[in-house]
Amino acid sequence: MKNLYNALMLKKLLIEKELGFKYIEPIKKFEEKQINLPNTINKLRGITLNCHLCELSKTRKNVVFGEGNTNADLMFIGEAPGASEDATGKPFVGRAGELLTKIIENVLHIPRESVYIANIVKCRPPQNRTPTAKEALTCRPYLQKQIELIKPKLIVALGATAYHFLSNDDTDISKIRGHLLTDKEYTIIPTYHPSYLLRNPSAKKEVFEDMLKVKSFLHL
Ligand code: URA
Repeated sequence: MKNLYNALMLKKLLIEKELGFKYIEPIKKFEEKQINLPNTINKLRGITLNCHLCELSKTRKNVVFGEGNTNADLMFIGEAPGASEDATGKPFVGRAGELLTKIIENVLHIPRESVYIANIVKCRPPQNRTPTAKEALTCRPYLQKQIELIKPKLIVALGATAYHFLSNDDTDISKIRGHLLTDKEYTIIPTYHPSYLLRNPSAKKEVFEDMLKVKSFLHL
């Protein structure tokens, strides 16, 4: 709950900054009951599908909650839904999704359905722009709760944006990829985003190496 509280606190600060506050009084602690999210994936999905907390809700066709095995040891987290995901409500179903599926099935040798796949934000940003910090922070409690309920042993952060918003670390993705980073709550391994691989096929070699680390970490 501490992360959820911090995310909401940070969102409040960003809104106040936008409104022109130069100095703000210490914020009263949010009441826990205000920020409690349900403890089942289905109920959490229901709440998320009706979310209108940020601007992205105005332009989305569908909320892309995430899908897969809710008991998965392995979770993939991307940046944001694109056009195909927005149209279907499912994560990673476009060209980048096809490549992600190949990586899971042909490199890790496990079915796509055996992992869980989600994104930093659950609604498509217009023109596929990068989600803003405010959008990522607003959506964060849902992702946080998803992670808390699924309890993956390992999270693959797909690309710089996913890594940055998951870890709050700005290290260049080319330097940090392939490192297994463990904090109190989970272990993350950042790697290149499948869309980057579509533009730079020579980077597939590095992602292959990163996936070997995933295999060995999870004894796949
Ligand atoms: N790119 C992402 O980061 N996520 C998706 O779901 C699709 C493309």
